[in-house]
Order: sequence, then C-alpha cells, then structure tokens
Amino acid sequence: PISSSARTQNRNDHAHDVLMLVTDVSEWRRLEHMRSEFVANVSHELKTPIAAIRGFAETLLDEDEGDTEGTGDAGNPMRRKFLRTIYDESLRMGNLVQDLLELSKLEATDGRVDPVSVDLQTVVDRAFERLRHTASNRGVDFRLASAPRVNVWADPDMLLQVFLNLLSNAIHYSSEGSTVTVSWDVLIDRVKVHVRDNGIGIPKESLGRVFERFYRVHKDRSRASGGTGLGLAIVKHIVAAHGGEVGVDSVEGEGSDFWFTLSRLDTNLAGVSFPLH
Ligand code: ADP
Repeated sequence: PISSSARTQNRNDHAHDVLMLVTDVSEWRRLEHMRSEFVANVSHELKTPIAAIRGFAETLLDEDEGDTEGTGDAGNPMRRKFLRTIYDESLRMGNLVQDLLELSKLEATDGRVDPVSVDLQTVVDRAFERLRHTASNRGVDFRLASAPRVNVWADPDMLLQVFLNLLSNAIHYSSEGSTVTVSWDVLIDRVKVHVRDNGIGIPKESLGRVFERFYRVHKDRSRASGGTGLGLAIVKHIVAAHGGEVGVDSVEGEGSDFWFTLSRLDTNLAGVSFPLH
C-alpha cells in the first residue's frame, strides 16, 4: 500500500492527523484473473479424458452384466468391483470439474448478471422436477409451503442452480422418510427464500464455514453422494452476484434452514403517489 499522512486544520483551528491509505489493487486483480483463468482451462482440459474413462468403464460394466454365461473374465467379482470404482470415481471427478468450471465462470462475470423478472414458483417447480428421482430413491419428499406468488429479479438459470444445489444437499443430508420444504417471505423490496430440512443438521462451530470452497462437515456422506464441496460456494457466489444475502440456521440432529434473499423489483411504483406530511 502507498500511504501518506497529513496534518490538517479544521475551521476551529484544532489540528487533526489524517492517515490516508491508498492500495494499488491492479496487480492483485491481474493475479486473481490469471488464477481463475488457469482453473477454468485445466477444468476444461480434464473434461475429455474424464468422459473417456467413464465411457469405457461403463461399456466394460455393461459387458459384464451381459455375460450371463460367465465366459471370459466377466464373472470375476474383483474385476466388477474395480470397474464400479473406476466408474463411480470418474463420475465424481466429472462433477468436480463441472463445479470448478461453474465457479470460474461466476468469477469471470465479476458479479455481473443479466436479471429478468422471474416467477419464483416456476423455478422451484422445475428444480423439484429435476430432483424428484433422486429424492424418491432416498425416500425424501418435497413440499412447497403455501406462499404468495411473486416475481423476483434474477437470471433464471442461475436461480435454478441455487435451488438445485440447496435441494440436493437437503436430500443427501436427510434421512429416509423426511420432508424438504421450500417457502418464502415477501418483504417490501425483497423476498427471503428458505430451504428447510429435518436432516442431520450442522454443528454450531461449522455454521460460519459451510459456504467456503471444499469445506465439508460430513465428509463420508458428501463423498458417498458424489459431493464436490463446492455446491454452497456456488450458491453464495450466485446470490452475491444478484446483490442478495445468504445464510444458514441449523441445529445438529434436528435439521437446517438455508436461506437467501433476492430483489423484488416487479413492484411497480410508477404512477403511485406518496402523500407528503
Ligand atoms: P458437498 O458437495 O460436500 O455437499 P457443499 O458445498 O454443498 O458441498 O456443502 C458443504 C458442506 O456443508 C457439506 O459437505 C455438508 O457437510 C454441509 N451441508 C450442506 N448442506 C447441508 C444440509 N442441508 N444439512 C447438513 N449439512 C449440510
């Protein structure tokens, strides 16, 4: 930082010390840009080989399943176990690369989004639809609490991503038979959206850290569900890019309430006159 100090005098001739701190951030920004671009390039380069590994593992697994007569190596349980591991791990790597690309893309936009007026319920319905299969496989139900229909100011694809990440977490960190509820409160200029589950919850000391990249509380569960440790970091970036806030309240063993706010700019104030007192 470049700093300078000066002595000034105010109108009453009392002397004041003024310390000015001027920091040149252009070098920091350049390095940050290089880092982000590097991550994006590496992730992009990894996509093709990962897809190839996954594809070949899948073909060999299919072949094993088709080999009912037990000819060749296909009946070998060890071989099948190894192939399954190669396949599962390539899926995990694929998810990780996709999330890294998503984060780099968000960083590259530097917080700029092109928002439009979006019907919140339509986006929630779409997210429910996309995750219905995963939820029913784990015996988890979705519920949309009755709330007034409202439009928010957002990029629809990004908003869908926020719901997909929060809902899939709610599914994976809940137990069978539980319900995940989406609701929202309509405030004057904002909407506060909640995604609540009655799952395993988060210990108090980790609450402030779950939005950090790669921070995981439940490592085994995250791994088993193909988690990347980047889902909530992506949520935080998207909400921040929209000028909103994000947070979580949780009680360990009882459940979590992930919430975020969005602007509600559909309120048409044109032509409305406010009485002046
Ligand atoms: P992951 O891919 O590991 O789920 P996230 O960034 O989405 O990564 O979440 C970070 C960590 O926060 C998770 O590993 C998990 O420990 C915790 N977490 C996220 N959502 C929930 C939830 N609904 N209930 C309990 N813990 C959660």
